[in-house]
Amino acid sequence: MTTRERFAPSPTGPLHLGHAYSALLAHDAALAAAGDFHLRIEDIDQSRARPEWEAQIYDDLAWLGLSWPEPVLRQSDRMASYRAALQTLWRRGLIYPCTCNRRDIEAAARAPQEGGDPATGPDGIIYPGTCRPQTPLQGPLPEGVALRLNMSRAVADLPDRMQFREIGAAPRDVDVIPMQLITTIGDVVLARRDFGTSYHLSVVIDDAQQQITHVTRGIDLFEATAIHVILQQLLGLSTPVYRHHRLIRDAQGKRLAKRHDAMAIAAYRDAGHGPGDIRRMVGL
Ligand code: GLU
Repeated sequence: MTTRERFAPSPTGPLHLGHAYSALLAHDAALAAAGDFHLRIEDIDQSRARPEWEAQIYDDLAWLGLSWPEPVLRQSDRMASYRAALQTLWRRGLIYPCTCNRRDIEAAARAPQEGGDPATGPDGIIYPGTCRPQTPLQGPLPEGVALRLNMSRAVADLPDRMQFREIGAAPRDVDVIPMQLITTIGDVVLARRDFGTSYHLSVVIDDAQQQITHVTRGIDLFEATAIHVILQQLLGLSTPVYRHHRLIRDAQGKRLAKRHDAMAIAAYRDAGHGPGDIRRMVGL
């Protein structure tokens, strides 16, 4: 099978050295395997995505020497596919509407802990189940409300053993997903009220749509991969190989965020650096 790598930035700010590292790693790996490198614009959060950041992404990546096939897949054009997947899960009784806000969840999750910190999973506090129905709800797929995965029902549809292959910086080559999913991950949000999908759902559907064989991304997403494998299983999609890489940090050892404008690729360009300098700065 031809290797297919991807880089999937969100156009919510300037690309910085951490993004350059991720994109270059994926691009180099595709080249080394005589495979393809794809770009995807992850702009489901339309309140934060800006066309000018998207334009800057193309500009920065081309300047770095990367190329990719056109047209670029943009997640905001893919809402019908996400909705179709939600329909499938809804008909199977695997998702339910949730009207809790963050404060409700924290209060309910704290209650049984008697002052202790509530259990957390890859997506934060494990949802205490306030809105979870006893039996699957009937009728059309609800709109304009958050939708959560009913993990205890999903477990019945999942294989006894789930794992994925890791070829990056994570401590294990094969990560076996613990089957106590109900207590370690819980009912994750698959569709947010404000934009009708979620990072987890969209990333899984689009990696499959683009036939991605290798996912290269920061190690901060390693824990979330269990959620992605669960969704791949539930939706009948294949699981790619994952390469989670170390994070690029600033001089104080903090990981780079979009607000690190000073380390934006564009700032290095403006200061007269070349693509080779960027490679050296990230250790490639
Ligand atoms: N859009 C995500 C980000 O910018 C990428 C996540 C992924 O590569 O799976 O962090």
